[in-house]
Amino acid sequence: MKYLSFTKDEAVKELAALEKKYNELKSKGLSLDMSRGKPGKAQLDITMGMMDTLSSDDACCAENGFDLRNYGILDGITEAKKLFADLLGLKMERIIVAGNSSLNLMYDTVARAMLYGVTGSTPWSKLDKVKFLCPAPGYDRHFAICESLGIEMITVPMTQNGPDMDIVEKLVSEDEGIKGIWCVPKYSNPGGIVYSDETVKRFASLKPAAEDFRIFWDNAYAVHDFDVENPVELLNIFDEAEKYNNVNMIYYFASTSKISFPGSGVAIMAASEENIAQIKSVMTVQTIGFDKLNMLRHVKYFKNANGMLEHMKKHAEIIKPKFDIVLDTLGRELGDTGIASWNEPRGGYFISLDVTKGCAKRVHKLVSELGVTLTPAGATFPYGNDPDDSNIRIAPTFPPNDELKAASEILCLCVKIASLEKLYM
Ligand code: PMP
Repeated sequence: MKYLSFTKDEAVKELAALEKKYNELKSKGLSLDMSRGKPGKAQLDITMGMMDTLSSDDACCAENGFDLRNYGILDGITEAKKLFADLLGLKMERIIVAGNSSLNLMYDTVARAMLYGVTGSTPWSKLDKVKFLCPAPGYDRHFAICESLGIEMITVPMTQNGPDMDIVEKLVSEDEGIKGIWCVPKYSNPGGIVYSDETVKRFASLKPAAEDFRIFWDNAYAVHDFDVENPVELLNIFDEAEKYNNVNMIYYFASTSKISFPGSGVAIMAASEENIAQIKSVMTVQTIGFDKLNMLRHVKYFKNANGMLEHMKKHAEIIKPKFDIVLDTLGRELGDTGIASWNEPRGGYFISLDVTKGCAKRVHKLVSELGVTLTPAGATFPYGNDPDDSNIRIAPTFPPNDELKAASEILCLCVKIASLEKLYM
């Protein structure tokens, strides 16, 4: 049904029918959650073998004989560095293997720059104003870091190839107050966009006005392809930056949160040798070292990069059908209505749905009243403010398939109701 070309009478009739369905669902007392990008139980179960990689008779030593139960090795064990270097195409010397959360590393990296500056620059907290570019829709927790630390956020629109680079280049080259940009270069959260080669090259060759400008390259979904055999390729940002003598500009993050366990994975940060030296000089005040036994467990379990990629196939087998459930429902229910558009990602954790302008908050309210939890409308934009009030992030991985189907149908019903209200009432 083409919702945009209804007569008023047709719209009234259709809305009445949808509201009837809505009221019937109200009495069901549902509780369905599509709000956060969490692996489902079946995904957590496939990694349980990792629990058996260490036992009480294990020596718990690194290859070089170091007793990993003890203090020390601030930047992580060599075997884990090798694993991530091979997996992500990074130089081992540029990697710090840390605790379980890359978000934690990102927060610390911004906080460190605020307190100590970046390799000799003025601490950002001593400047009148610090600004970050925030491609949006984007990851709400990136924006939360800026908001919490008083960093002004400037929204940059996303295109199908990544952030709008004309705007990024212009702003970064003109404004010394812009110190950073958040990037999720592969399967962006929530758009599922993979940065094109041209976008990566343009990032690598930026000429920022601020010498302490940094690109926060959050490669959270680096190996999270649905078709692991035919992954979507992303250019290596360090290799490109090398060509323009810009390696210092990159702060790179990743983790195994969605490879092993989100609560007990291993996170890494990678940066130039100069950056790493500064980071370690502060990190050594923060901690004597991270959980090395967990690093060892990961190395023993996955063995090498190939082992990790094989493991990703098992995740894809579980996740892909979940995405299909949501995408099939969206296609069936909203496909020819003209009131919604969405992406069909080839990996990652999210589907980004755009509904009729001015309707996302209303959709959120309507679904909530039926017991469906969605990421709050607006969360994908800085300050929670979606100027079009149209973007909704769908996270299909956590709910069991039957719940996901029910939640998707409810979402479509509410998108239709909200749009008809907006367009015709
Ligand atoms: N970055 C992005 C883009 C994410 O989507 C997420 C999880 N939703 C994270 C980082 C969090 O990573 P970690 O678990 O390593 O802190």
